[in-house]
Amino acid sequence: MNVMSETEKFSVSEIFGENVFNDAVMQERLPKKTYKRLREVIEGGHDLDLATADVVAHEMKEWAIEQGATHYTHWFQPLTGVTAEKHDSFITAPMENGKVLMSFSGKELIKGEPDASSFPSGGLRATFEARGYTAWDCTSPAFVRHDAAGATLCIPTAFCSYTGEALDQKTPLLRSMEAVNAQALRLLRLFGNTTSKRVTPSVGAEQEYFIVDREKYLKRKDLIFTGRTLFGAMPPKGQEMDDHYFGAIRERIGAYMKDVNKELWKLGVSAKTQHNEVAPAQHELAPIYAECNVATDHNQLIMETLKKVAGRHGLQCLLHEKPFAGVNGSGKHNNWSITTDDGINLLDPGSTPHENIQFLLVLTCILKAVDEHADLLRASAADVGNDHRLGANEAPPAILSIFLGEQLEDVLTQLISTGSATHSLKGEKLETGVKTLPDFMRDATDRNRTSPFAFTGNKFEFRMVGSQASIAQPNVVLNTIVADAFAEACDVLEKADNFDEAVHDLIKKYATEHQRIVFNGNGYSDEWVVEAEKRGLPNIKSMVDAIPAYATDKAVALFEKFGVFTKVELESRVEIEYETYAKTINIEAKAMIDIAGKQIVPAVIKYTTNLANSINAVKAAGAADVSVQTELLSETSDYLSEVKAALAKLTDVTEKGAELAEGEEQATYYRDVVKAAMDELRAPVDKLEMIVDKDLWPMPSYGDLIFEV
Ligand code: ADP
Ligand code: MG
Repeated sequence: MNVMSETEKFSVSEIFGENVFNDAVMQERLPKKTYKRLREVIEGGHDLDLATADVVAHEMKEWAIEQGATHYTHWFQPLTGVTAEKHDSFITAPMENGKVLMSFSGKELIKGEPDASSFPSGGLRATFEARGYTAWDCTSPAFVRHDAAGATLCIPTAFCSYTGEALDQKTPLLRSMEAVNAQALRLLRLFGNTTSKRVTPSVGAEQEYFIVDREKYLKRKDLIFTGRTLFGAMPPKGQEMDDHYFGAIRERIGAYMKDVNKELWKLGVSAKTQHNEVAPAQHELAPIYAECNVATDHNQLIMETLKKVAGRHGLQCLLHEKPFAGVNGSGKHNNWSITTDDGINLLDPGSTPHENIQFLLVLTCILKAVDEHADLLRASAADVGNDHRLGANEAPPAILSIFLGEQLEDVLTQLISTGSATHSLKGEKLETGVKTLPDFMRDATDRNRTSPFAFTGNKFEFRMVGSQASIAQPNVVLNTIVADAFAEACDVLEKADNFDEAVHDLIKKYATEHQRIVFNGNGYSDEWVVEAEKRGLPNIKSMVDAIPAYATDKAVALFEKFGVFTKVELESRVEIEYETYAKTINIEAKAMIDIAGKQIVPAVIKYTTNLANSINAVKAAGAADVSVQTELLSETSDYLSEVKAALAKLTDVTEKGAELAEGEEQATYYRDVVKAAMDELRAPVDKLEMIVDKDLWPMPSYGDLIFEV
């Protein structure tokens, strides 16, 4: 355990962003002309020229070397779910005197060429056409990362193929941000705004994770290979006492969190909130929201830092959506809003939303967007691990709906029934009944934790996203569907003779046509599933069923309209998702086979042998009653036969699955056949765990893992 971190003092304001080549550093180090030029590029004014890039590269290198950097890397986010990097050192060929120079050119800054053949491309690029390019994303600042490999200058980049197709998360994200920007500006102009120059989506992603002891983790091959436990009986105590949620943070975890925060602050990630989550050993970290693509990069840095720092504390961070069956899993709440460069949040209703026509149009556009493209939003949150959570009464259901709260729902009801809204419900004074406690104004609206898409005052919170997934895809979808709804509204309103009347009619039309998507009740209830079906809302239960949404005619038209994805890119993503699904389940199945065959069966045999020996010994010693032991032996042997049969079956179906052609059919097979066989193997093993001697059981139990950190 790192004792330093408990005693060491540091000033947050001094260390914040110290490893980032941020605006302040650029302003200080770049020649005025270069700085100005670069700012214009960052703000979307024009393309970057090589002369500017050369100057920036040189200064960036000098700065990085002062930070101790020896290497640089183009840091990118391929479709593997994690970031990728290839390191080059700054050194040039040795000179005649045998010394080397450190150099970094504008060309090296703006373009990289990793051998891309091993990244998922969904058929976009055959392995013999291995060229892929990384391109500097100057809107997300470069940073120096310190780790065991030394210090590395990391340059956030987009990754595309030789023919220009996006092979990563960032390219479509940047494209979708452009789409929102253009359409939101159109909308603002209609309302007489002539001053805002740029509109950007802002995102704050709350990250949930589990922390377990690393030594115990290393004894669990299932966690090592798959990130989740594939076996494990429930401990006597689960989360039923609700005593972990917001509970006092234990010392060991506190020291860890402190280190995590420090690392993140140095990287300019504004880690803000931390607390214990619902499940034992589960925690959450939330940064202050930032521009969408920066927030996406920062979320990757948060995940990497959580894992890296855990190792230093003898801990292991589990980012999987469902590390433990029967215990709440982890998600990521994607808080999303749209703001102008001059500080107007388009999702801020003000205190009298019924009078805020611009807000009501934005709001009803979002209702329309989410209703029309619920399948896409659902797909954007689809992830193999997330299948265990959505709809399992611990995370939102797989049905998309929007929670608006009493106040806004009331305004909409007025609009729909009478054609105009005349008043807004107000928050009342909340009296605590205790003189020494302050009375305060209650919000006009309570929260609803069961909604997948909830309005929370001045932002929407998309709660379906999985804990280990990149937040890029959900935001690509959100940005694009909202841009489309804005575009359609503008198409109507720009032509209207009487703007006031037209906007009024449009708000009423959207509110009426899409009111089915609004649901303020309990999203975890069975009644909602029935009700949603009546309303015709899709209930897409698994990732395999969610994937096709990306390539429907509707989706292709939408994404092509805004240049976010081409049809080919969408089809490649569909292919990658099916492959990812099948591969993930295949690894899980093979891990189960391995663990059951090599660890569990031998342990059970040892136990039964011991038991049989002791029965014989007792019998030999005289007339003692051995009925209990005999019963146990027979029970254990029965379960062991079940294990053996289930193991044979799982081996068989997994082998067959691997032979199927990649794609929908294979993914469906893994979901329906292989997963069922996995469950059949797990059931008797978990029973055996409750019988067999703890000393003989080959791995730490759930209780050991989640209660003894
Ligand atoms: P919760 O109560 O759900 O934990 P918080 O109010 O603490 O929510 O905020 C959660 C996240 O939402 C934080 O990352 C926060 O910075 C972010 N957030 C707050 N306001 C906005 C906004 N206008 N747009 C986007 N994200 C926001
Ligand atoms: Mg939240």
